[in-house]
Amino acid sequence: MNFEFTDLQVKPSNNRHGEGFRDKHKIYIFHDKESIVDNIMERQNRPYETYKELVLPKLMELLDFKFPSHHASVMKEKWGWRQNCGCSACPCSPGFVGNNGVVIPLDIFVTIKIN
Ligand SMILES: [Zn+2]
Repeated sequence: MNFEFTDLQVKPSNNRHGEGFRDKHKIYIFHDKESIVDNIMERQNRPYETYKELVLPKLMELLDFKFPSHHASVMKEKWGWRQNCGCSACPCSPGFVGNNGVVIPLDIFVTIKIN
């Protein structure tokens, strides 16, 4: 899979819905120009093994470049895919959750464009 990043945002988490993961860093991966309907259809069918193998290492490089102050904390994580990453009530918000509890959990939103 060839891809490029088209957007990256890092914010302190204000998520009140991912009950079990409140003190963990999270990564949400979006697909460039995906429609809402496609997103709803695909959100339970994301290629997370591919994300883990190809997207996460590149994302760590990009974070180091764009958000160096967050990089050390994020680099330590082992990332696990969770269908309920951002929402404990339903599978609407899948993503990667870090394994460490942290004082200031970050929400990392990244958009990829598959070429
Ligand atoms: Zn939900």
